[in-house]
Amino acid sequence: MPFDAIVAAARKEKRLMLTEVEAKQALKEAGIDVVDTRLAKDKAEAQRIAREIGYPVVLKIVSPDIIHKSDIGGVKVGLADEAAVSAAFDEIMAATKKANAKANVHGVAVQAMAKQGTEVILGMSKDPQFGPVLMFGLGGILVEVLKDVSFRIVPLTRRDAREMIHEIKGYPILEGYRGQEPASVEKLEDTLLKLSEFVEAHEEIKEIDLNPIFAYRDGLTAVDARIILEEKTG
Ligand code: ADP
Ligand code: MG
Repeated sequence: MPFDAIVAAARKEKRLMLTEVEAKQALKEAGIDVVDTRLAKDKAEAQRIAREIGYPVVLKIVSPDIIHKSDIGGVKVGLADEAAVSAAFDEIMAATKKANAKANVHGVAVQAMAKQGTEVILGMSKDPQFGPVLMFGLGGILVEVLKDVSFRIVPLTRRDAREMIHEIKGYPILEGYRGQEPASVEKLEDTLLKLSEFVEAHEEIKEIDLNPIFAYRDGLTAVDARIILEEKTG
């Protein structure tokens, strides 16, 4: 589905948050690498898609009313077979109901289980003065506790992208620390530039959050994505 159609569907339902499935589809079309992610409306469909993708898989709640999925028990990783998918499906639905009995549920996202990499995050927010700004940082505890992030105004040049990556304090981690796999800085630069282009082309986006992205020696993959739309004006 093209981005305009995804936005139209969200507007029709009067929601500003795109689901993870919609957000990843849009980012994929923008040339950003994302984990293979598909929407299943019921358990049987989840099992069929899991078989297509190949085990192990990850299941997540898809609901415009649930923003932080793992906080409510809406994410199950490392599901090894059909029985595990069945149990995870039931657990996710029960947890969602408990968290918000009125939540509008689209189904579950079935996705490939990505191999662990260096966790990084990419974001876009709008500054009242400068407009869209991209953020780059290391994921997990590092970004939450140390706020080790860098910012640049859209549109980014390749030099901006390179500087953003090099100027965080945790940069040595990306070079490979104590035998840890290094991250491809070139691929991170490419991804920042593609995100900058995507943001420039779509003024109707208010906020983007790719958290986390797993970065590897030879590439990367976004395992979670969130896009928030601007309230409609005019
Ligand atoms: P939340 O809405 O809570 O941020 P996420 O989609 O980020 O939910 O999932 C929570 C965590 O589960 C991620 O930070 C990541 O460590 C792990 N995870 C999520 N999706 C995948 C995946 N496809 N492959 C591997 N790990 C994943
Ligand atoms: Mg997340």
